[in-house]
Amino acid sequence: MTAYTMICTSDFSGLLRGKGVPVADFDKRTTAGIGWTPTNVQITCFDTISDSPYGSFGDLVLRPDPDRRVIAPLPDGRRLDFALGDVFRLDGRAWECCTRGMLKAAVARLKARTGLELRVSFEHEFMFREGLPTAGFSLAGFAERLGYAEDLAQALAGAGIVPDSFLREYGPNQMEITLPPAPALLAADQAAILRDLARLVARARGEAVTFTPLIGPDVVGNGVHIHFSLWDGQGQPVTHDADRPEGLGQVAGAFSAGILRHARALCALTAPSVISYDRLVPHRWSAAFDNLAAQDREATLRICPVTSHEPAARARQFNLEFRAADAAASPHLALAALIEAGLAGIDDALPAPTATAEDLSLLSPEALAARGLRRLPESLEAALAALEADPLLPRVLPEGAVDIYLAHKRGEIAHVTPMPPEARFAAYAAAY
Ligand code: GLU
Ligand code: MG
Repeated sequence: MTAYTMICTSDFSGLLRGKGVPVADFDKRTTAGIGWTPTNVQITCFDTISDSPYGSFGDLVLRPDPDRRVIAPLPDGRRLDFALGDVFRLDGRAWECCTRGMLKAAVARLKARTGLELRVSFEHEFMFREGLPTAGFSLAGFAERLGYAEDLAQALAGAGIVPDSFLREYGPNQMEITLPPAPALLAADQAAILRDLARLVARARGEAVTFTPLIGPDVVGNGVHIHFSLWDGQGQPVTHDADRPEGLGQVAGAFSAGILRHARALCALTAPSVISYDRLVPHRWSAAFDNLAAQDREATLRICPVTSHEPAARARQFNLEFRAADAAASPHLALAALIEAGLAGIDDALPAPTATAEDLSLLSPEALAARGLRRLPESLEAALAALEADPLLPRVLPEGAVDIYLAHKRGEIAHVTPMPPEARFAAYAAAY
């Protein structure tokens, strides 16, 4: 039995923060909550505080969701007890900067307007900070991290999470964990939980891992690939249509077109660190243009392969993957933004994007423009400017949250701008 449980919120920095309360009080706290401070949302990943309109004023309530309680054994014998929660105003309304609240609202809007639900699977890449060199995808590399994998599996079981896969990725000391598909809110919650447990399990073993988008300019990046599929109210898959190009069903085509129409703005929410833009360049197997492709690992939206030959099973497997994301993003905010962009595509009945099938970095700007393709932003500041200019913004970030998010990120930019590049990469590696 542990004495304390911590009530956490996944915030603009993509980290979990909160407060501990006695375990015996958990039930009481599900209604009473615990006090929370508005300015906390301006604590950046570097623990600096960006400009806050709230200053020292205001009070909020952080309430745990009893369905997201985690009691995770750590390898050093500790039992970590925590729960994810939501931030409310004192009058009971959702707080405009609560990322979990934003995702709940986006899920509800998608359901209300289309009757559809999204199933989502987060695929995370991360790196051990140290270790003997092993080859990408090798058995030796897998075996090297088996003790860690087993300890992490124990901890994740305490959150009801059983990964879909665990593997030695290609980059130096790089691993990958994919979570099974789940409804959007559960998927984002599990992504947030996974990141913290992966870091904590490593630490308890005397090791360290980082989910930073990039550890250095010449190294493979750590992506977060967000897989999604659409399902109707009867639990039937609607992403696939064997008679349409690339097998992409009509509604999923419109949803995809919405994501791509807003992709440049979305990056400010899905890849929101300064160094994210060193990863979102051609030939890094990340994403660099606002394109859809079938089975191309450099597309912003990739249609993933299906392995079954049986039509009903193919329809259930069929999914797309958004690749311009990383772990500097709140999984809740990133997913809320993808849903709103996709829904805007459905609202506007956009035609499905035409899939690309070549190296877009070889095309001239004129050739790209002729095909309606754009380069993703090349800096966080450019992504923020695209976000500010995008009519989607008020749908994703409620009134009041927009200026705060922009100030949060501009404070982060100001903090790292004077640093030499190595220090910048090191700072993000330590933060994530
Ligand atoms: N490491 C690549 C990225 O930054 C992804 C490699 C892959 O799994 O396709 O997104
Ligand atoms: Mg990978």
